Amino acid sequence: MTRFPLFVDLKNRWTVIIGGGAAALRKARLVIAAGSRPSLFAPVFDNETRRELDGQAELIERAPLREDFAGASLAFIAVDEDDQAEQLAVIARQAGALVNVVDRPHLCDFTTPSIIDRSPITVAISTDGAAPVFGRNLRAKIEAMLPARTGALAAFAARYRAVVKTKFNSLDRKAFWEKFFDGPIAARVLAGDEAGANDAMLEAVNRSQEEAQQGVVHILGAGPGDPELLTLKAFRLIQNADVILYDRLVGSEILSLARRDADRLYVGKAKANHSVPQAEIEERMIALARAGKKVVRLKGGDPFVFGRGGEELEALRRAGVKAYVTPGITAATGCAAAAGMALTHRDYAQSVTFVTGHAKGDLDSDIDWAALAALKNTLVVYMGVGKAGRIAANLIEQGRSANTPIAVIENGTRKNQIIANGVLSDLEQVIESTGIKGPALLAIGEVAALADGAALDKLIKQERRAA
Ligand code: SAH
Repeated sequence: MTRFPLFVDLKNRWTVIIGGGAAALRKARLVIAAGSRPSLFAPVFDNETRRELDGQAELIERAPLREDFAGASLAFIAVDEDDQAEQLAVIARQAGALVNVVDRPHLCDFTTPSIIDRSPITVAISTDGAAPVFGRNLRAKIEAMLPARTGALAAFAARYRAVVKTKFNSLDRKAFWEKFFDGPIAARVLAGDEAGANDAMLEAVNRSQEEAQQGVVHILGAGPGDPELLTLKAFRLIQNADVILYDRLVGSEILSLARRDADRLYVGKAKANHSVPQAEIEERMIALARAGKKVVRLKGGDPFVFGRGGEELEALRRAGVKAYVTPGITAATGCAAAAGMALTHRDYAQSVTFVTGHAKGDLDSDIDWAALAALKNTLVVYMGVGKAGRIAANLIEQGRSANTPIAVIENGTRKNQIIANGVLSDLEQVIESTGIKGPALLAIGEVAALADGAALDKLIKQERRAA
């Protein structure tokens, strides 16, 4: 450790900043955020700086004198000239201030770290000037791991510190807080349910921890395949889980984000091969949560789009188990983005419909094909590969043109993504000839011609030729 990290209370201290440029302004913002009112010296300040710092800092348009540093605790020097920077550093230091010279670590008494501000939680990272970009890169990674409401959770705990102290002896108190931050009450604070968390906390404190020992289930959308399409929230919850129940469409790259000691239970279903019945999945989750586990139910795409997330949430709530849902990018929007096909491109579509080819009842009678055949509608069919011929026939029968563009996207957003284009009357044949087995989506409608970019490239070329 070449520099000693510390968090300084600046409220009753005074800071001098020399310079009128962007770097000086950044330092001023930091000092102001810490509750202090700095003095800035520069030959001139532009109007934008004046406006931003108005009332929060003192702006003095002249060169600083030796006596201007008297009483300063910190001095930031953000000037271009090497000689001037060096001289100012000496003067400020002689006046008793700790000195930071921007971009010149060798002249610095202290450096400013990369900061994550989730007050009252602050994370600071220093590379000792060795690699500031790496510092920022690390900060982004740590930031992604911290829930947005980290600060709120710390503030929540702070409010209960005194009460908890009166209820538990010091050993039990430590155990209580250790459980708390990984437990369901903290999960509620992080989910934005402070009122519920307050109730649960009071109960937990009064009923000596019984409540704190209950588990929780998070129903998460894992997105269409590309692990980078996970939400930050899903990422964090996966890393935190004791047990993960996952489906067939959740890839190994996503599962590998879990803790090494987390249990991974495969409960996937392949078509016509319901390996673990739905009721059993629900029972398992309930039992695990009751045993105090943090359970993640990981589903492909979005859990509420043809994902049975609704049924599972209902079962968990009925059983009195705390359950939360985190959305994911559904296959339709994931594939659309990967294929460059805007689902509601204004030139071609006014609506988009997601429909399943694997409905509970009968495909022909339970679906309103006339409505789906409407012009200017983009129809996206999930689980439709095996029934593509029937789907196309039904739509054509209801008046959709046989020449309507279609695209079939298999393994969208994954490395083995395949896009096949054609027209509605050839839908089944396109699937057969390309050997598509699924998971795949059928996109039907004018926008399908945009899938894979070929059509768009052609259009752009034509326009260029015409111009
Ligand atoms: N809840 C999921 C859908 C589950 S149903 C979601 O929101 O995406 C499973 C169907 O989704 C598959 O049969 C297929 O039609 C579609 N699907 C899922 N992932 C896909 C992918 N990467 N590419 C194409 N289709 C996909």
